[in-house]
Amino acid sequence: MTTLLAALLDGGLDDPEAIRVGDVAMSGPELLGAAAVVADQIVDRPNEGPVAVLAEPTAQTVVAMVGALLAGVPVVPVPPDTGPGERGHVLTDSGASLWIGERPPEVTLPVRRVDISRRSGDAAREAPNDGPALILYTSGTTGAPKGVLLSRAAMAAGLDGLADAWDWTAQDTLAHGLPLFHVHGLGLGVFGALRIGSRLVHVGRPKPESYAAAVRDHGASLLFGVPTIWSRIAADPESAAALRPARLLVSGSAPLPVPVFERLHELTGQAPVERYGMSETMITLSVRADGERRPGWVGQPVAGVRTRLVSTDEESDGELLPHDGETIGELQLQGPGLFSGYLGRPEATSATWTADGWFRTGDAAVIDADGYHRIVGRRSVDLIKTGGYRVGAGEIETALLEHVGISEAAVVGEPDDDLGQRIVAHVVVTGDPIDPDEVIAFVADRLSAHKRPREVRVVDALPRNAMGKVQKARL
Ligand code: ATP
Ligand code: MG
Repeated sequence: MTTLLAALLDGGLDDPEAIRVGDVAMSGPELLGAAAVVADQIVDRPNEGPVAVLAEPTAQTVVAMVGALLAGVPVVPVPPDTGPGERGHVLTDSGASLWIGERPPEVTLPVRRVDISRRSGDAAREAPNDGPALILYTSGTTGAPKGVLLSRAAMAAGLDGLADAWDWTAQDTLAHGLPLFHVHGLGLGVFGALRIGSRLVHVGRPKPESYAAAVRDHGASLLFGVPTIWSRIAADPESAAALRPARLLVSGSAPLPVPVFERLHELTGQAPVERYGMSETMITLSVRADGERRPGWVGQPVAGVRTRLVSTDEESDGELLPHDGETIGELQLQGPGLFSGYLGRPEATSATWTADGWFRTGDAAVIDADGYHRIVGRRSVDLIKTGGYRVGAGEIETALLEHVGISEAAVVGEPDDDLGQRIVAHVVVTGDPIDPDEVIAFVADRLSAHKRPREVRVVDALPRNAMGKVQKARL
């Protein structure tokens, strides 16, 4: 049986620095030994239900999660910094029955201090491939986070697609500073290393200097980041230059602004690779390691994935749209890495599937003749219907970001009696105050008339969640 923890269970990762999280390093066998102790204690838990693990970026978190997997019990990673409200939601919604964490949970659960120094029995078992391995909560960008059930088989298949697309092998050292409670940092960023056998360096809180140190001191070859991290690195030439020896810089979770792509290319000598995925699907689209890196495009389907574009307009709902590089439609897909459903939400689960068996991503996209995909944004908030036109917020944001006085931009459609929706831009300025009318004139040179913002509002900061995604509903 090919398991999710393939490399780890096959005795790979045997160097003493194989898995480093912050200041703690361990080898694969050391991780396995500690995790087996956790597994022993989980197996005699008081009742059914998943194991909640407080997902601080520490070695204990990785040990606890691997322990639960060895015990065959699904893991719910719990966000450590988002406040008791979100933690309470995750704990109650998931029905967790056991808690592993340095601090007590805010809801009533059997609290267990798992003692990783105890000697283990033989807990190195792993449950069947089709059972849920993880209950991963979505980022909560469009509503309350939903619990996504991911099987070992789905995760393993998703990771194999990436190994192929990125030439990701046991020779790589992966480094990142992503949270360990979402698909990006955990599903790819931890389980990818444990399946493929590459070394892992988790740098703790993501700072440009720590990415630079991961390359300099630990020989990191593969770097993962969300656009906010890449944007900070692009603003720090010294740290960016230190990334030159790395093999692949990968961005995902949200759109990578074109100016950040270009600046990184300039400073590091290589263009970043952008990829697209969801908690529900693992990574489904990516630029290949040897593929063409076009700013603003997330590449092609990874091995085993198929995509199509579908109209969601009332008049033509369900109609297949052409892959002509400009027609916008809902991205739908099929593939081996897909989830088994939302926990406790059967209607939401069935609503994500079309009658003919395609997964509705809820994202709007464009596909061109080479099979390259551009993500326009969320169908619900980023696709603006104004004066009979369909406009993608991202295109307007890209134009706004070309303005030297603007560092961040978020465009939304607001209800309008005349136009249906009117385009409103929220911008963060780099320094001196800017004149909204001058900004409108600036983008007018770059966009056709129906795409121009009617209003530009200067804000101090954009509301963002733990993955750095802009929460447009809060604007
Ligand atoms: P929720 O479902 O709770 O609203 P979420 O969709 O942000 O939260 P995730 O599953 O973590 O939760 O994120 C998936 C979404 O992230 C995708 O649907 C897509 O909108 C966005 N995304 C991921 N990668 C990219 C990318 N490279 N470019 C643009 N958007 C991306
Ligand atoms: Mg989502």
